[in-house]
Amino acid sequence: MRCYRNIVGLDTEYRFWEKVNFLEPVTHAENMRRGIVGQVNAERQRGITHCPKGHDYTPENTQARKTNNGRKCRQCSADYAAEWRKKNQEKSRAASAAYRARKRAEAGS
Ligand SMILES: [Zn+2]
Repeated sequence: MRCYRNIVGLDTEYRFWEKVNFLEPVTHAENMRRGIVGQVNAERQRGITHCPKGHDYTPENTQARKTNNGRKCRQCSADYAAEWRKKNQEKSRAASAAYRARKRAEAGS
């Protein structure tokens, strides 16, 4: 530390304090309000006009995300749901059949 002081000298130390004095302690929320990150991100989002799979982000095809103010492609949601139904059809049918069989048994006895 002594070595550092000898090299940088008083002038550097003074400039450091000059810079530090510009800093103003504020809350994180206030710091974010003053910053430009929000604007930059909003600008970037507006620049994105298609979902990752290439569907248009039109008002009809766009759904608001509940959790993070984001948006969601309706076409992709529908595709995903259809895919899921197809994949789980067997399981779903088996569960329904088991339920009906159980009900029949209960009614019979
Ligand atoms: Zn999509």
